[in-house]
Amino acid sequence: MEGSMNTLIHETLLLLKEAKHQHADKLIYSCSLSPQGMVLIDLICQHNLAIRIVTLDTGRLPKATYDVMDAICERYGKVIDICFPNAEEVEVMVKEDGINGFYRSVENRKRCCAIRKIHPLQKVLKDQEAWITGRRKDESKSRSGIQAIEDDPVYGLKKYNPMRNWTEKDVWAYIREHELPYNALHDEFYVSIGCDCCTRAISVGEDPRSGRWWWENKDTLVECGLHVSSLKGRENKSIDDD
Ligand code: SF4
Repeated sequence: MEGSMNTLIHETLLLLKEAKHQHADKLIYSCSLSPQGMVLIDLICQHNLAIRIVTLDTGRLPKATYDVMDAICERYGKVIDICFPNAEEVEVMVKEDGINGFYRSVENRKRCCAIRKIHPLQKVLKDQEAWITGRRKDESKSRSGIQAIEDDPVYGLKKYNPMRNWTEKDVWAYIREHELPYNALHDEFYVSIGCDCCTRAISVGEDPRSGRWWWENKDTLVECGLHVSSLKGRENKSIDDD
């Protein structure tokens, strides 16, 4: 177990260093503050990799997520840039669709995810060459084929996936061993955590991402739009955070 953990850490650091070497300051880690995000932040900070870390505050996150941001700041210093949606866009949407309009239609939900997540991410990724994600193969069927380095046609960047071979068990073993901060909702059967209003706890055996947008038809519940594989339907595909 210890050997395989060391191998995972070694592989992850190699890919992070490769990304930094190739793209220098045109590289960003977009962190969703997931458990694997805690591991990546720890590795980046402990090894002084000088990779910019960004997270999106949609304005609708659970208190526990803000507590994690604070805990990271306490432990590592101000290492995360927090990005926000455009206030004007949010105001117009809320006026037209209502404060919880995303429950009323898939179209409304996609509009909300676009304004609160995709547009801020587009702004963050503008002028970059590459970005790092915390996605793992074992998170869902749609993520099982993740490669180490991919072309991201949506943003026209290289996409690095250093956590792809970690399992959920590996991630939690690292978190426990290093006593890392993590989102307290994970202790309440929340697996994939996004906005407070669009995330719920799941039951044993359910797909880890089934706690997101649970009121919609399952066919639309693939990704949040931050990680889509085609330019087609860029704004309309079912919308990670990592
Ligand atoms: S997850 Fe829900 S609240 Fe958050 S941006 Fe998407 S629709 Fe809006």
